[in-house]
Amino acid sequence: MSSVINNRARKPRLRQKPFSTPSPVSTIEDFTAFNARAFFDALIVDIENGIEEMKLQSPWVTHRRLDALLPVLEAAVKRGMTLCCFLREPDFWPHRGNPDLDVETKREHADCEELFNALRNIGAHVNIRPSIHEKIHVIDNLITWDGSLNALSHRNTFERMTRLTSRHFAMETITKWRLDTCIECWNNRCRLSFGKAQTQLHVQLLAEQLLQARRPCMSQYSIADLAGIDQAMICRLEAGSANIKNGLLVQMAGILGYELIPVPNVLVPAVTTYIHEQLSARGARLGQKSKRK
Ligand SMILES: [Zn+2]
Repeated sequence: MSSVINNRARKPRLRQKPFSTPSPVSTIEDFTAFNARAFFDALIVDIENGIEEMKLQSPWVTHRRLDALLPVLEAAVKRGMTLCCFLREPDFWPHRGNPDLDVETKREHADCEELFNALRNIGAHVNIRPSIHEKIHVIDNLITWDGSLNALSHRNTFERMTRLTSRHFAMETITKWRLDTCIECWNNRCRLSFGKAQTQLHVQLLAEQLLQARRPCMSQYSIADLAGIDQAMICRLEAGSANIKNGLLVQMAGILGYELIPVPNVLVPAVTTYIHEQLSARGARLGQKSKRK
């Protein structure tokens, strides 16, 4: 079996809060129910028309179904869409690599690793979560697919999927089912975005990132001198062992030639890609220049 779970008994880990309050606003503009056969054609059209991002929660994955969907997903990522996948954690996943696991579990872990890597290789974000069973896909914070069918593993069972068009419903679904907590999106923001410096941790991470940019342009002494702080403080900040205040972060950014710009969440992937491209192109130009000298 190439699914990501097996049937071995396992204590359920249910941490979800009850959602007892219905939405006070009904803003569903359009909804249609699909059977399994019609679902894939309609989903593919939605992915092909997608612009910014897709949240794809399919607890189970199989080679057969993934192979069929991978080209359209890969094309979407190449167009610039952010694809955040949420997949179910296989049994005993935290203990993978342990030689004491039984043969069947080891084989299953290897199989899952292959499937997860196939998604990573096309640029998808892969989030592994325990106990999830909901099948949800949200495209561009507008279209929500919700129902019983696993888009990445379905074979031949009778299923039902409903397509709803509503920004309010899509955003509510993303929030309630924690589809806005993709770990790779978060890491990308920490690496390159300066838009979420509300917490001390964020501020500290941003300071570390900024200070990495000083090498080899400026010494710790020169930055400390310009910022009016002790060199030892710069040293501790670079090592991630000192707290920093927002004001000093802004000041250091200015000294290092950076601006702190708030970026709407939805634009973070596009801005991140643009910055990567521009910095790579700049690095290549500088490399060519130094070769000519
Ligand atoms: Zn993501």
